[in-house]
Amino acid sequence: MTNPPKDAAARKAVEPVICYPNDTLPAVDIDRYKTALAGALETQGQRVPPRDAAVVRVPAGSFLQIRSVEGAQVGDLNLFNANDLSERFYSGKTRALHGTHVTTGDRLWSSFPSLRPMATIVQDSLDWYGIDAFGGSVHDVIGTRCDPYTHNLLAGGHYHHCCHSNLSRALATDQGMDVKEAELLTHDVLNVFMCTGFTRDTGQYFMKGSPVRPGDTLTMFAEIDLLAVLSACPGGDCSAQHSSDVAQCYPLDMAVLTPVEGALGDWVSPQRNGYNRNHGV
Ligand SMILES: [Zn+2]
Repeated sequence: MTNPPKDAAARKAVEPVICYPNDTLPAVDIDRYKTALAGALETQGQRVPPRDAAVVRVPAGSFLQIRSVEGAQVGDLNLFNANDLSERFYSGKTRALHGTHVTTGDRLWSSFPSLRPMATIVQDSLDWYGIDAFGGSVHDVIGTRCDPYTHNLLAGGHYHHCCHSNLSRALATDQGMDVKEAELLTHDVLNVFMCTGFTRDTGQYFMKGSPVRPGDTLTMFAEIDLLAVLSACPGGDCSAQHSSDVAQCYPLDMAVLTPVEGALGDWVSPQRNGYNRNHGV
């Protein structure tokens, strides 16, 4: 241990500043989205089996609704540009811009060099939860996804139904590619319905039993054509453990909701990021 300097208390008392003040981001017209959602019709449905994943295509200008059914269950969501799989959800930058957990009005941003909103969250039935006494909250972008490599590292063995494998298998089947190729496209997720945080004393990533119940929904507006891949995590409600067949698991539903003609007014799909990509060369 290093002895603290004489002015340690003063150094620690320095007030933090927000890294990325997000008040200059393009404004979210939440009323427009909510009006469009209110009149939208369900045009597609997909059930995600427990300890497995499923794929759905969500055309730009429509909504993806993730629904809790049958029992408390969390989901690991990957989002791709349906027309260009190299553009995919960037959880780290979404976290930097919006915080550790996302809710209504927050956007899900895509990877470099596109860095544009892929989706905007327009409805969250768990928005009442806020931040609990442990620092926990719902729908995080701080976890990565449960995976067989970390499981092998910590516990040994070969467990094949972690979210990483579920997402990779579903993508491989959808794209007609080998699972070893598909897993290179699988990326850090939005942890839908999962309740997580960092412990205050050690800063460790924690999970706790999700407050989600059947009937709860998270709805996002597709700003671009999306390929959504959702895994029903082997952790179930993540109250105890994951990466095993021990937890009680339930399915999740994905629904595509299509607004009626004209409901979106003059909405246009966002362009890719404006940086010229010279990098000073
Ligand atoms: Zn998982």
